Amino acid sequence: MYDIIIIGAGPAGLTAAIYAVRAGMNIAVFEKIGVGGQLILTESVENYPGFPMISGPDLMDKFEKHAAKFGVEIAYEEVKAIKSKGKAHVVVTDEGEHETICVIVASGSQPRRLGAEGEKKFTGKGVSYCAVCDGPFFKNKEVVVFGGGDAAIKESIYLTQIVKKVTVVHRRDKLRAEKLLQKQAFENSKIDFIWDHVVDRIDGRDKLEGVTIKNTKNPDQKKKLPVEGIFVYIGHLPNTAFINVDKTSGGLIVTASCLLETSIPGIYAAGDCRDTCLRQIATCVGDGALAAYSAGEYVERFKSGHL
Ligand code: NAP
Repeated sequence: MYDIIIIGAGPAGLTAAIYAVRAGMNIAVFEKIGVGGQLILTESVENYPGFPMISGPDLMDKFEKHAAKFGVEIAYEEVKAIKSKGKAHVVVTDEGEHETICVIVASGSQPRRLGAEGEKKFTGKGVSYCAVCDGPFFKNKEVVVFGGGDAAIKESIYLTQIVKKVTVVHRRDKLRAEKLLQKQAFENSKIDFIWDHVVDRIDGRDKLEGVTIKNTKNPDQKKKLPVEGIFVYIGHLPNTAFINVDKTSGGLIVTASCLLETSIPGIYAAGDCRDTCLRQIATCVGDGALAAYSAGEYVERFKSGHL
């Protein structure tokens, strides 16, 4: 039986792994797709202390090497369910069942889709959720970015290094993004804004031809933007379908404020998958450390018969 199983190998999961291994715990880390979570989709990081400017993939590489130095190994298995077994737990993956005293869920989130006609058909063929991955395909072309948060504005600024023009389409007339990013975007001559509009449909028969947007105040007012690329940054949905603990209506795991314990004792949540008010690399790292500490305390109580 493991002491702690950690689900997810992003900043929260790998931090939890480093802290848990250094505390002498016998752990396993399960990751569904690849190390890094949302961080590997980020072009540049400027607010993680100690690294005034580093790319998301480079920072993640440092996290991974740091974890490997302490012997953390990552198993590529998809977690399907977590079952209770007395005061311990069983993590069910696509490869089998694994017994553990504690679980730390650090399964992150995935990009929210627009839900528009044509979106599925053109995903990977003009519609993208990752400017770092797909931006180079749109060299000197015109693109639209949907969203008004940090990700939409940061990635719009990044895209201006590659594309001819970025049009940011936002559903309100004010951005949610942090003020510094807003200033950089407003001062960038390659970025235009269309306020109070949302997607209507994505146009094209065999090839993407553009996107039709509609006014949120008057939905009959529609216009077609003849662009070759569409980048979607309208937030994230947590990867929490496999776990049956208390969640918000949006699927975020509810944790007790101090110890990050979920509604099931011995199961902790860390990072973007939990209900929190700030989602940054720094907060994910903090969550990972705290969840490992809390899980370690549970393991000690379990082993000494004090649960
Ligand atoms: P976010 O902050 O939730 O912003 C999502 C944006 O999409 C909002 O502007 C929202 O509009 C809009 N939106 C949501 N649903 C929509 C829909 N159905 N149709 C059209 N627009 C829709 O998400 P995010 O930008 O991905 O950021 C996620 C977290 O990561 C945040 O905590 C953010 O601070 C953090 N982050 C930080 C940085 C950084 O450099 N500091 C970079 C990236 C991400 P409303 O504004 O009207 O709600």
